[in-house]
Amino acid sequence: MNKIKSFFSTFLLIELLKGLALTGRYLFARKITVQFPDERTPLSPRFRGLHALRRYPGGEERCIACKLCEAVCPALAITIESAQRDDGTRRTTRYDIDLTKCIFCGMCEEACPVDAIVETRIFDYHGEKRGDLVYTKEMLLAVGDKNEAQIAKDKAADAKYR
Ligand code: SF4
Ligand code: SF4
Repeated sequence: MNKIKSFFSTFLLIELLKGLALTGRYLFARKITVQFPDERTPLSPRFRGLHALRRYPGGEERCIACKLCEAVCPALAITIESAQRDDGTRRTTRYDIDLTKCIFCGMCEEACPVDAIVETRIFDYHGEKRGDLVYTKEMLLAVGDKNEAQIAKDKAADAKYR
């Protein structure tokens, strides 16, 4: 019985007609065009965009160079070098993310014990050559400094689900 149904369905191009009916429905529906970048669609607090490195309110960088993010990154996009400072604490001397390798999985953010590396809502960034998309520690800290208010708000909104 199923074979007969399938035969007639194929023969009468039922799937094609269903597809055309769907297209036809939207042909006359009200068009929704977002005038980006003047208008933007809402984004989730969990949106995984451009990375940022955060600081504590006093200005001290959060990252303690534990390298968990580097170890967990499935794309091997993170490169960290570290050294001990005079006060005995360890901090990164190099923290690069190659955004051409990154798959924006969010695992670095999940792994970080001090909420240092985060993914922001920023998605409209670009590079003109390949090297421009290798974000250094200074660039990542600058993104964090500029967007800390939004990052803290998003972290607070998501905190109860963690
Ligand atoms: S988002 Fe995923 S792929 Fe990108 S740097 Fe973090 S862990 Fe690596
Ligand atoms: S960003 Fe977080 S997980 Fe990565 S090295 Fe720094 S403290 Fe560790």
